[in-house]
Amino acid sequence: MQPNEPPEPLNPGDEAPPDAPGVGEDICSACRGTGQVEGQQCTVCGGTGKVLQGIGGG
Ligand SMILES: [Zn+2]
Repeated sequence: MQPNEPPEPLNPGDEAPPDAPGVGEDICSACRGTGQVEGQQCTVCGGTGKVLQGIGGG
């Protein structure tokens, strides 16, 4: 058995944890997937260039 891993901290742009149902990765609209804004690490996606967004429902 593996010990429980601590959940990854969510970035401000993430709407839900990655293991939540109906959630998918999307390009960060703040940095457009580059991970940087004006030479600084994007604070919305945490520099990943991607955010987690709910894709189910409306
Ligand atoms: Zn970003």
